[in-house]
Amino acid sequence: MRLYSTNLKAPEVSFQEALITGLAPDSGLYMPKDLPSFSKEDIDSLKDEPYPEVAYRVLSKVLEGEVDDGSLKIIAYDAYNYDVPLEEIDEHTYIMRLDRGPTASFKDFAARMMARLMQYYLSKENKSLTILTATSGDTGSAVADAFYGLDNIRVIVLFPTDEVSGRQRKQMTTLNDNITAISIDGKFDDCQAMVKQAFSDKDLKHLNLSSANSINIGRLIPQSIYYIYAYSKLRDYPEEIIYSVPSGNFGNMMGCVLAKNMGLPVKKIIASVNENDEVPAFLNTGDYEKIVPSKNCLSNAMNVGHPSNLARLIAIYGGVMDEKGNISKEADMDKLRNDVYSSSVTDEQTKTTIREIYEKYNILIEPHGAVGIKGLFEFREMTGDNTLAITLETADPAKFPEHVKAQTGVEPELPESLKRIESKDEFMDYLGTDYAAFKKYLQAKLV
Ligand SMILES: *Cc1c(COP(=O)(O)O)cnc(C)c1O
Repeated sequence: MRLYSTNLKAPEVSFQEALITGLAPDSGLYMPKDLPSFSKEDIDSLKDEPYPEVAYRVLSKVLEGEVDDGSLKIIAYDAYNYDVPLEEIDEHTYIMRLDRGPTASFKDFAARMMARLMQYYLSKENKSLTILTATSGDTGSAVADAFYGLDNIRVIVLFPTDEVSGRQRKQMTTLNDNITAISIDGKFDDCQAMVKQAFSDKDLKHLNLSSANSINIGRLIPQSIYYIYAYSKLRDYPEEIIYSVPSGNFGNMMGCVLAKNMGLPVKKIIASVNENDEVPAFLNTGDYEKIVPSKNCLSNAMNVGHPSNLARLIAIYGGVMDEKGNISKEADMDKLRNDVYSSSVTDEQTKTTIREIYEKYNILIEPHGAVGIKGLFEFREMTGDNTLAITLETADPAKFPEHVKAQTGVEPELPESLKRIESKDEFMDYLGTDYAAFKKYLQAKLV
């Protein structure tokens, strides 16, 4: 597998290099040059297989020659030891729940696979590295949990003391071992700035710092698997399927684009966004304008005014968009519009949808999943297209208890994985926003 940078100004690299470096040297994002194709028979052969087996079979084709098969199988079964339920809500609509992982968000799918693939390459070469990451909540916990207990990787996660919930904090501080959590007396932007400065600090080069952020191709590829998995599980496969994906940075949605490019018969991908509607506007007009600052909406993991993965979407349709959002070569917009529809859902509609889905189907959903469902309903109303559709629930309702309770009167029950951490001891260090002090801390800690 060879990967190119979306900015087209960096050399092609192997999967291993793309995985370990993250961002291309020209600040572009890595994309695979070629993808394998899965025939109807290939997909049919997955229909009775559990999730980890599907993951193994898909990845063994995508990463052919990059990871040995025996190791890949062990990795897939170790990473995906939880359920991926498909709930039928009516005869042409399913909800796929991606919220059953250890941190109860869909980010577990990507983080757990990426962590294990990194560990695989590092241990083969007897190397180690330190992942340094800033978080405003969910990404940090998924990453910390995913890397927990891996021998060759240490994780240092910085979070703003007052901006994460108690439960989010506990997901990062109760692990200990190779995970260090630092509570920063500042804002998320301060944490981000300190991490960025450390990456470009020549004095820290020898510490082998790496980032695990969402633009890593190692986080994207695993997100194509559940689209193939879900389709293979439908009774009497429909000819085609529609997916609705609650989207912020568009990594999840790009997983669906990859799956479609590997032969999955996806008729339409609905990228459902909240009031940050820069992508629906772009698809309508062809002009791209980011939203600065991004709007605060109930589905807070999707408050993104300039999705980083948009450059990948444009690349796959033949265009070039740089990291600032400037388009130097236009994508095939007709083809893009034919494959992708993007719908913006207001906070009011999000609330109404949580209530309606509960009243009509007795199913609890949280704000991100509600945006996905509403986007699908809007698409159906507009087009009259009743093709079988799967919409994604990306977090457990118990992560947003106040919104769920306000609409349904029901207090969602905590999943076991989150219950377990409630009574655990917390370990964390405390720092301010002074970079010099943070640097000293790293130098002392990482000897
Ligand atoms: C991160 C996140 C999203 C958005 O996913 P993208 O890949 O950034 O589009 C949606 N829902 C939840 C719960 C998330 O944590």
